[in-house]
Amino acid sequence: MQLPSSVFATWLKDTAGLSFADGKLVVSVPNVFTSEWLERRAYQLVHRTASKIVGQPLDVVFLIKESQARKETATSGPSTRRPNTAPMFRTGFPNRRYSFDSFVVGPSNDLSYNAALSVASSFGEHYNPLFIYSGVGLGKTHLLHAIAHRCVQQSINFLYVTSEQFTNEFITAIRQRSTEEFRSRYRSVDVLLMDDVQFMSGKEQTLEGFFHTFNDLHNTGRQIVLTSDKSPRTMPYLEDRIRSRYSWGLTTDIQAPSLETKVAILQTKAKEKNVPADNVVLEYISERTGGSIRDLEGAFNRVMATAQVSKGTVTLSLAKRALEERGAHRSVTTRSPEKVLEAIEGAFQVDQASLTGSKRRRDFVVARHAAMYIMREHLKLSVSEIGRVMGGKNHATVIHGIKRVNDYLELVDGFKAKVEAATDQLAS
Ligand code: ADP
Ligand code: MG
Repeated sequence: MQLPSSVFATWLKDTAGLSFADGKLVVSVPNVFTSEWLERRAYQLVHRTASKIVGQPLDVVFLIKESQARKETATSGPSTRRPNTAPMFRTGFPNRRYSFDSFVVGPSNDLSYNAALSVASSFGEHYNPLFIYSGVGLGKTHLLHAIAHRCVQQSINFLYVTSEQFTNEFITAIRQRSTEEFRSRYRSVDVLLMDDVQFMSGKEQTLEGFFHTFNDLHNTGRQIVLTSDKSPRTMPYLEDRIRSRYSWGLTTDIQAPSLETKVAILQTKAKEKNVPADNVVLEYISERTGGSIRDLEGAFNRVMATAQVSKGTVTLSLAKRALEERGAHRSVTTRSPEKVLEAIEGAFQVDQASLTGSKRRRDFVVARHAAMYIMREHLKLSVSEIGRVMGGKNHATVIHGIKRVNDYLELVDGFKAKVEAATDQLAS
């Protein structure tokens, strides 16, 4: 690899190829820092080198291994050695933005916030299990990640899993007759964070499997935190077992935020992103959106991206324009790739030379891929035409770039709003 050996020693020596299938190479990395560094600084290099070796363009995914430190401090329970298939976390977990510090507390969520905080201050000793429920987009996943951060800081052996992942793994274990291994893997954690348990509702066999795990953990004093989009009352099977058997558990809910809380959340966000924003504008955005904080953030990002594309300041009338256009689905009318470059330049705040160049800085790469995506999806340009406009990129690079956009939509904060603002600009 073309890296100085000191860099190699720090960042690559403890990584290993885990699996390779369907054009996807999974690389295990020892910790969050390594995965972030590699994603940010060396993604293209790893990608290119691996693609060259295999002879086809690859997607590279970094997965974080349970750290050695955590394994060693895990004291309770039978010391099962983790098989290679041990649960691992997708790169970027826990999400840096989802911490207790960045969680705005108001009357709608203070119970859940405080419960999560006290659980994280001494695991297994307060509410166990803690069960948080709310409508979608109100902060459940945020709180679970915040707890996970505390686990990382204290080197506590934890596992974050969605109940969908749990269900899939469970079904696979049954099929492969490896349910014992499956159970012992889950049994070896000190803190189990399970997101979206409503997914298991009605899946009796999975629930049964889950309660085995649950009992094993609970009986040995391990902490369990569950979240759900539905009230436990609508899931009698779950409720029966959690509520009645575990009287020292706690169920809390999160309500839709008040206008004040919404404005406070946007103020925090504006500060985080270092953009000046008038309270009048933030109030307008808050009034315009429904209860979900995810929607609130989407609307905010939309306004900011529109301001960037049109190089305007964030005024009330700009906010109105940005949010009124929302959902109108105006279609892209231009056929000019140069116009796309201009719009992306504005939305992503990246200059043209960097956009069509080949520097691997993360924000350049993301903007570049967004441009390729719009040219393909909306302008229907051929891959080779796109490669030419983008400064002479080859076929594989363009195809790979367009594919990466799906990941960004999910993982990169504000990405969707920027792409939308750019495509708005291209509609007339
Ligand atoms: P849920 O899991 O309940 O569907 P999430 O935890 O994914 O919701 O939250 C949706 C978005 O709203 C996330 O970006 C999250 O950071 C943000 N969010 C939710 N509640 C708060 C809060 N109280 N303060 C700051 N951001 C919040
Ligand atoms: Mg969630």
